[in-house]
Amino acid sequence: MGKVKEYKNFIGGKWVGAQGGDTFENRNPANTSELLGIFQKSDHRDVNNAVAAASEAYRSWRLYPAPKRAEIVFAAARRLMESKESFARDMTREMGKVLAETRGDVQEAIDMSFYMAGEGRRMFGQTTPSELPNKFQMSLRMPLGVGAMITPWNFPMAIPSWKIMPALVCGNTVVIKPATDTPLSAINLVRTLDECGLPKGVLNLVTGTGSEVGTPLMKHPDVKVVSFTGSTEVGRSVSEACAPQFKHCHLEMGGKNVIMVMDDARIDLAVDGALWGGFGTTGQRCTASSRIVVHQKVYKKFLNRFVDRARQLRVGNGLDESVQMGPSINEKQLETVVRYVDIGRQEGAKLLCGGHRLTRGSYRKGWFHEPTIFADVNRKMRVACEEIFGPVVSVISCRSLEEAIDIGNSVEYGLSSALYTQDVNRAFTAMRDMYTGIFYVNASTIGAEVHLPFGGTKNTGNGHREAGQAALDVFSEWKAVYVDFSGRLQRAQIDNN
Ligand code: NAD
Repeated sequence: MGKVKEYKNFIGGKWVGAQGGDTFENRNPANTSELLGIFQKSDHRDVNNAVAAASEAYRSWRLYPAPKRAEIVFAAARRLMESKESFARDMTREMGKVLAETRGDVQEAIDMSFYMAGEGRRMFGQTTPSELPNKFQMSLRMPLGVGAMITPWNFPMAIPSWKIMPALVCGNTVVIKPATDTPLSAINLVRTLDECGLPKGVLNLVTGTGSEVGTPLMKHPDVKVVSFTGSTEVGRSVSEACAPQFKHCHLEMGGKNVIMVMDDARIDLAVDGALWGGFGTTGQRCTASSRIVVHQKVYKKFLNRFVDRARQLRVGNGLDESVQMGPSINEKQLETVVRYVDIGRQEGAKLLCGGHRLTRGSYRKGWFHEPTIFADVNRKMRVACEEIFGPVVSVISCRSLEEAIDIGNSVEYGLSSALYTQDVNRAFTAMRDMYTGIFYVNASTIGAEVHLPFGGTKNTGNGHREAGQAALDVFSEWKAVYVDFSGRLQRAQIDNN
């Protein structure tokens, strides 16, 4: 085996080692004997250096014309296109999802970069008439300062790009802390932006754990906005850490998403959606279809086909193009899956398919689990309420659309929901009544595009949205500007009568 590469932090335009000299390993979850690289195990000292570099760079970056900022982002989009295949392969080795999906992950970063590059020449404010004569008024966006980004491992390039690109175009500088399971993909993204001419200090990256890097980063007094994607539990602590300083705080958290299949649905289409939504990314998507609520009239038919198809899914190393489902990200996540399968059994759910860890042959070296389906699940069972983040799907029977919506809305999360029906009235009713940030008709719960807002209600989010125009609201603040050219004192609300 050749020498293993050591990757550094990126601070003030330079690749530097952690102050403490510690490192950690990054291994392939499909084959843990494969070591991808050694990464910096940083601490608060590295965070302080990165925030100082970002604060210094902010002084000039905020005055850099937005279209010029966006040109760098545009150049990065083109460079990402050139590197798409190699970055996708790095990502599959780093986190296990299959190549088609890691190509999609890089593509999402490309799409977001092009989209936000366009915003450099838009970022529209409003001009409105004044209630007084000879007075002009408008609103404009101003940047916030240093943004801290804390990201998960399941979309290792897409999610960082959803945060970094709008933040930069709005005129903020950035310190990103990627998940410890997937630092390489974040480094690939940061390196790409650096190669496209980003001034030093504008974008900084510090790798390491949540407690040693994430916590000091989000608490740093010079950080003005924190954008976090991850679990609801950690999100709550981010929210609490931001509150005393009134920091802008953007949270994208867990999900327990639902597909509702009505008796008039095209069953094969619904099965396609359930398979893709339930087992795509090994169920490790915040938008994963972990609950399928099926009308009792088509319940058996749906289940038979769904189970039949799930049994045929090819599980393995995502670098093999014929593989359809990769491993869990790590041992801890796999243990969670195994634990929930036990819980489901104990709760009396009917295990129709899967239910076991895969350990034979080449599976031995990775964190693999069979695609698993529970039927006859009651909406109150833990497998039907709690986020598992693995290849485990619960199927629940219902008698009507109203009941399906009620079940769908009954969990603590509110990210994504989907309805399969041929009836336009049912489609619009569910569109209105599902309290989720994303809703699909005749498509699975996954498949968001970058130019619409992404995020959820209840314990999934705190009212902000990623992507689309909404992302600009996270990374900028409104300023209302009034210009009185009357040459005299004019009092609003008083002199206009
Ligand atoms: P996680 O909350 O464990 O970690 C997310 C990030 O926070 C990582 O970078 C981690 O190192 C950091 N972190 C952990 N503890 C911290 C602390 N005390 N202080 C500061 N930072 C800390 O989540 P995960 O396991 O990486 O990702 C899975 C979760 O992310 C799931 O719940 C999933 O639903 C959610 N997710 C949500 C979305 C969304 O857009 N809503 C998208 C993807 C993933």
